[in-house]
Amino acid sequence: MTRSEELFAQACTVMPGGVSSPVRAFGRVGGAPVFAASGRGSRITDVDGRQYLDLVNSWGPLIAGYSHPAIVAAVQAEVARATSFGAPCEVELRLAQKVVERMAGAIGRIRFTCSGTEAVMTAARIARGATGRPLLVKFVGCYHGHADSFLVAAGSGVASLGLPDSPGVPSEIAADTLTVPYGRLDLVERVFAERGDEIAAVVTESVPANMGVIVPPEGFNKGLYEIAHRHGALMIQDEVLAGFRVSPTGGWGLQGRLEGWTPDLFTFGKVIGGGMPLAAVGGRAELMDRLAPVGPIYQAGTLSGNPAACAAGLATLELMDDAAYQKLYDIADRVSGIVSAALAREGVAHRLNKVTSLFSFFLTDEPVVDFASASRQDHEAFARFFHAALDEGVWLPPSGFEAWFCSTAITDDDLEHLERAMAVAARAAA
Ligand code: PLP
Repeated sequence: MTRSEELFAQACTVMPGGVSSPVRAFGRVGGAPVFAASGRGSRITDVDGRQYLDLVNSWGPLIAGYSHPAIVAAVQAEVARATSFGAPCEVELRLAQKVVERMAGAIGRIRFTCSGTEAVMTAARIARGATGRPLLVKFVGCYHGHADSFLVAAGSGVASLGLPDSPGVPSEIAADTLTVPYGRLDLVERVFAERGDEIAAVVTESVPANMGVIVPPEGFNKGLYEIAHRHGALMIQDEVLAGFRVSPTGGWGLQGRLEGWTPDLFTFGKVIGGGMPLAAVGGRAELMDRLAPVGPIYQAGTLSGNPAACAAGLATLELMDDAAYQKLYDIADRVSGIVSAALAREGVAHRLNKVTSLFSFFLTDEPVVDFASASRQDHEAFARFFHAALDEGVWLPPSGFEAWFCSTAITDDDLEHLERAMAVAARAAA
């Protein structure tokens, strides 16, 4: 028995499934999850001393890799002062300023939370509070965290584990979330035509990545913005995953910013906290000031704006200058190119969906444009591919419904290692 297997067996006796978040349990690909011990740069080391090239990077936050010295130093300096204040602090202000400045006029105010779930929950509350309307529109296979309103036709772990809409979400709450297949503006039009005056907001991932990555069709997000506004509703763009990853200004930087429109509310997470528990909701000042203590819409958090988390986020955003993004895009091109070539050499049908640095592979020969087509991928072949890669020292997301995450710490040596590992993994998938 490996140390990982031993620890997992123990963990299962005190934690449901042995994990703190379901998809970590390898439910879709089978086998016992690997227990992580440490990470440095592009690599993670497990409790048995095995090293892996990591293409998950804590599901996105570690865009600069593990234990970047600047991030570690920033966190250590804050922790030496205090682990938490429960009072305003300067590093929190500096991160808020940095995000507002980075988002280039798209947001005027930001409120920090500890998780993306809370951020999206808060955005929905602001939208409902501001419009006085109850309904939300979301897309099948998009994931916006585990708040009641969003566990309806959700992606990520819900999709990976093949779960129904979650027991425990009251049907009256689920009924207030209308779902539409991704990419179908005609159906969004229809939903708004039928119930437009009851809809508070349409919520979408700026680049869907929780049913695997789906490339938004040309004009889709702009269309959502226009339909919502025509009906007096708001648009919430969820940038928890794509934010500060697909461009310095997230999905918005590739769409709205170029096309001249701005969502009413944004949510951020993952990269914004540099690997610490931090997320945020942002929007124009007038809307955000509906939040308490200025306005009556209530939201709060004991650890929100935690100084160590803000320091990690600030250091990460400071590292991610234009040159770092170029490097990241280049790494993602090379990583995805190596994987594609290996699969092609073995004759494994696959589709690469990619938006700059964010991508995923689907083992299928049909275009993947929504949850239905994503569901038709060959999950068994993916499981063989995943395990062979892991045996070869490459850590991939343990489900074909999840995105792959590169970091700027990936080196040429890593890419050579990847090439060798993918030759073996592709053979296993064939
Ligand atoms: N929104 C999106 C797009 C996500 O990908 C996630 C998590 O993966 C969330 C929200 C929820 O964030 P958290 O896991 O921090 O609650």
